[in-house]
Amino acid sequence: MEHRFISKKHSQNIDTVMFELPADLKQDKNIIDLSIGVPDFITPKVIIERAMQDAMNGHTKYTEPKGDPEFIREIIKFYDHEYNYNFTEKEVMAVVGACHGMYLVLEAIIDEGDEVIIHEPYFTPYKEQIKLVGGKTVILKTVEEDNFSINIDKLKALITKKTKAIILNSPNNPTGAFFDKELLNEIAKVAIENDLIIISDEVYDSFTYKEKFLPIASIPGMKERTITIGSFSKGYAMTGWRIGYVIATDYIIECIKNINENMCYSAPSISQRAALHALRLREKVQPRIINEVKKRIFYSYERINKIKGLSVLPPKGSIYHFINIKGTGMSSVEFSKMIAEKTKVILIPGTAFGDSGEGYVRIACIVGVEKLKEAFDRIEKVL
Ligand code: PMP
Repeated sequence: MEHRFISKKHSQNIDTVMFELPADLKQDKNIIDLSIGVPDFITPKVIIERAMQDAMNGHTKYTEPKGDPEFIREIIKFYDHEYNYNFTEKEVMAVVGACHGMYLVLEAIIDEGDEVIIHEPYFTPYKEQIKLVGGKTVILKTVEEDNFSINIDKLKALITKKTKAIILNSPNNPTGAFFDKELLNEIAKVAIENDLIIISDEVYDSFTYKEKFLPIASIPGMKERTITIGSFSKGYAMTGWRIGYVIATDYIIECIKNINENMCYSAPSISQRAALHALRLREKVQPRIINEVKKRIFYSYERINKIKGLSVLPPKGSIYHFINIKGTGMSSVEFSKMIAEKTKVILIPGTAFGDSGEGYVRIACIVGVEKLKEAFDRIEKVL
């Protein structure tokens, strides 16, 4: 929007993943909204209770800028236990969700004109954040024929003298792709040979359906050049607490800490307590969340592939399906609009995640199987 009170740099429209629903649909009680990745369950009660208790006991103040030391130590323990990956308290910082973490990281490492490679379809904020910090986005297209995986030759071909970093997101939003150990090793080799930083957005690390997740930072030679971004939003149904973390070398953590002291100083103390309890209680609280999402993902997979004109790859990771709609002859936007109008099921056009999303729509498996059944029944009828 242009206005004399709005800065020139923000006068053009900013791309967001938000899909504006027509006003009458917004009010409609019959809609099934599969657009935004916020599951229909709330944070496990025991986490809420413990966090509230901590608030009553005085955890209501700023924490240290890098985070509540108890929380930080719990993140370290988690990585050691789950992934046998070790780092020190100087190499991790609590942030206000993964998005905030990514912004701080880009602010810390990007000079004007530096290039950052992102694989497309991509999580929409990456491109805007790179622009905000003065960097240049370089797109690496991924295709369904390769399971939306990274083609190493295509990646190599995009590297220039200006390339500073590659953002990886596996398990992936929106495609559901998962980068296995072999691919991560190849990407690591490219990063080392070209002296690049890997920023690994690992917010869906708990949602894998084939292989256990492997942090790329744990591959030999990668620790010094990997910035890991994690979040409690999805794995513990904690989107509203706005809590995540960044793991990186001590000098990068020191730099993002200094930047953040001029932004919001520390992540919310109560949310850090909640996240600390989430980690401590994970074996008790997480299986229910993961198993429920898994049930929804696999149910949707079966249904989608039986609907005329639609197809989808077998589930590998994340909470999304990137549905191929090319058989319908419609564009992603046309299809999403038609489905919204005729069935009241809300999807996101694939093009919200970059040009290579044309011919696809994303659904988030955020409602139970019964509701999903209803959604697919309605879609099946109109196709
Ligand atoms: N990265 C990806 C790939 C995501 O899908 C999301 C949430 N939709 C985020 C980051 C943001 O996570 P947070 O809520 O921790 O900011």
